[in-house]
Amino acid sequence: MSPELATLAATIQDFVAREIVPVEQALPPEARGIPQEQVTALQVKARKAGFWCLDAPEEFGGGGLSTFEMAVVVEHMTKHRYAFPNPGQGVFGQGAPNVLYKGSPEQIEKYVRPTIDKGWTTFAAISEPSGGSDPARSIRTTARRTGAGWVLNGRKMWASNADHADYGIVYARTGGPGRTGISAFIVDGGTPGMHVTSVPVLRNHWTTEIVLEDCEIPAENLVGEEGQGFALAQQWLVRGRLHYAAQAVGVAEEAVKIASEWAKNRETFGALLASRQGVQFPLADSRVEINAARWLMWDAAWSDDRGEDARTASSIAKLYGTEMGFRVIDRAIQILGGMGVAKEGVLEHWFRDLRISRIVEGASEVHRYLIARDMLGAAALGNPQEGTKTS
Ligand SMILES: Cc1cc2nc3c(=O)[nH]c(=O)nc-3n(C[C@H](O)[C@H](O)[C@H](O)COP(=O)(O)OP(=O)(O)OC[C@H]3O[C@@H](n4cnc5c(N)ncnc54)[C@H](O)[C@@H]3O)c2cc1C
Repeated sequence: MSPELATLAATIQDFVAREIVPVEQALPPEARGIPQEQVTALQVKARKAGFWCLDAPEEFGGGGLSTFEMAVVVEHMTKHRYAFPNPGQGVFGQGAPNVLYKGSPEQIEKYVRPTIDKGWTTFAAISEPSGGSDPARSIRTTARRTGAGWVLNGRKMWASNADHADYGIVYARTGGPGRTGISAFIVDGGTPGMHVTSVPVLRNHWTTEIVLEDCEIPAENLVGEEGQGFALAQQWLVRGRLHYAAQAVGVAEEAVKIASEWAKNRETFGALLASRQGVQFPLADSRVEINAARWLMWDAAWSDDRGEDARTASSIAKLYGTEMGFRVIDRAIQILGGMGVAKEGVLEHWFRDLRISRIVEGASEVHRYLIARDMLGAAALGNPQEGTKTS
């Protein structure tokens, strides 16, 4: 790690501790997030500090950080209560949906630049009620060409932020079955024919369902070529997966700190918890697993930055990182006892968030399947003729 990156990570962690944590601690225990006015005020500070949209390419006003740099930065941005699914609850800016960085010059001007300049909120709608693990087969939403543009019909499930987003990317079928039949479209928030309802879930940040009924959008809202939607989205797989790994490493590291401090100060049966092996061993196991998860994440990130195919490495990092994070938070809760599940703390929130991290951006089983397929090739598919690596 370069000294510059180490300094950036430390400064961001300090910003989180000084600016975000006190705001969260002043909220009532039942709050599901930081109120928007306070997020907006914190965004001004984050911009001033140079922490704005670090993931977005520099040419569009972002920080242009590499995959490795982003993994390091996200780990340090995540050390606060409402850090999922986006660190700082958007305080650090979210950038445009990645597929749009390859959009037309008009799309860049109309959507990408304002998203970064003004901090617009966006959504990505891939999953459907028919299934999210295998969208190439399960997408049923259709986009039909008309004289003036496209008409979308169908249902999208779990599209986070769609109820308050300025716009989003909707993946719809324009061709036959499989991945080459899917195209990506920009849909503005409030477009007639798009009905969004909130879907409450385990975590604080709820998600949405979208019903598209003869939803008309202009021809120029197609991103890339017709049938390219899936291929465009796949280009950002590695960064997406590593975001989840980095968040898990960040909160696990913090949880171990909290649990260690507690154990050093809490006595039961006449001795400190820290003196009991029943407390030492889960802490030691957590230390080992956090270090392992971080190295797996860095390995995948370096591989991506070297231009190698890092898909399997990122599956390994996402799978191990999110499962490790859940185990570590669970152990920390056990060490704190009742205080571990109090809403005024952070562990209870991260426990619920990490449970979801094992499902989104590819469920753990899907990553195991992808890793095994990379190891076993054609045999994993049960058909030697179809044994090509596809995702
Ligand atoms: C809170 C939340 C936010 C989300 N945000 C978004 C979003 O913004 N945009 C979006 O498009 N989607 C989003 N999703 C959807 C998410 O990506 C899907 O839930 C996920 O991909 C799993 O799809 P599914 O729920 O349809 O489960 P299914 O695809 O039906 O799979 C169910 C379970 O089957 C198992 N499984 C699947 N395939 C295999 C296999 N090959 N081998 C063994 N086991 C397998 C896994 O355990 C999986 O959990 C979100 C989901 C949640 C819960």
